[in-house]
Amino acid sequence: MGRITLENVQKRFGEVEVIPPLNLTIEDGEFVVFVGPSGCGKSTLLRLIAGLEDVSGGEIRIDGRPATDLPPAKRGLAMVFQSYALYPHMSVRKNIAFPLKMAGMDQAEQDRRIAKAAEALNLTDYLDRRPGQLSGGQRQRVAIGRAIVREPAAFLFDEPLSNLDAALRVGMRMEISELHTTLATTMIYVTHDQVEAMTMADKIVVLRAGNIEQVGTPLDLYREPRNVFVAGFIGSPK
Ligand code: ADP
Ligand code: MG
Repeated sequence: MGRITLENVQKRFGEVEVIPPLNLTIEDGEFVVFVGPSGCGKSTLLRLIAGLEDVSGGEIRIDGRPATDLPPAKRGLAMVFQSYALYPHMSVRKNIAFPLKMAGMDQAEQDRRIAKAAEALNLTDYLDRRPGQLSGGQRQRVAIGRAIVREPAAFLFDEPLSNLDAALRVGMRMEISELHTTLATTMIYVTHDQVEAMTMADKIVVLRAGNIEQVGTPLDLYREPRNVFVAGFIGSPK
């Protein structure tokens, strides 16, 4: 499960309306990319869904249940942070286990989930290493592993590859896409990179100043951009 609906969701910081009321449905299992220039509200929108920010108005539903007032830990979603959010003094195993330990899960179930995540991410041979002994790509996979073990209804990524070099970024893009195929779980992925959006998304949400300019498949947006902003941003010939 992982259907997320936003109904008239809005966000103000003081007097400034960063997200005017917007409506959006994310279907179960979809790979949705929020794309738009820096400062357009991508992170804010993701953080509203995650519960890391409170909405100023509107309703968020996850699998039909009202989630607007739930704290992040009760929403069943997992935010993937950049790899530098790992604990440097803990082994890979302990980094991945951390959210499960916090939740008080029994050891056998923790071990089962860690083994499964490590296999999906090709980290089985690295579980006893520390983050400092891993490559950038492996560290990013550990950060994803920490999300996978929680078996969330959806994964939320906020520019997870922006601190990796260009070559690594291309590889990780493919890995995340493969992971989406393997897990068949909803993923919401924030980026300002059009190429990432066009190559990874089932559905792209183009944002400008907190407004949704267009929602569609990469092909829809390329062929039928609704306006000059979308065309320019997506790199459409129109
Ligand atoms: P993006 O992720 O697309 O770059 P953000 O969601 O981070 O954009 O920011 C959208 C706008 O909201 C920006 O103008 C930013 O300055 C503002 N903003 C974000 N967080 C806060 C905050 N905690 N307080 C005040 N303004 C904020
Ligand atoms: Mg951002």
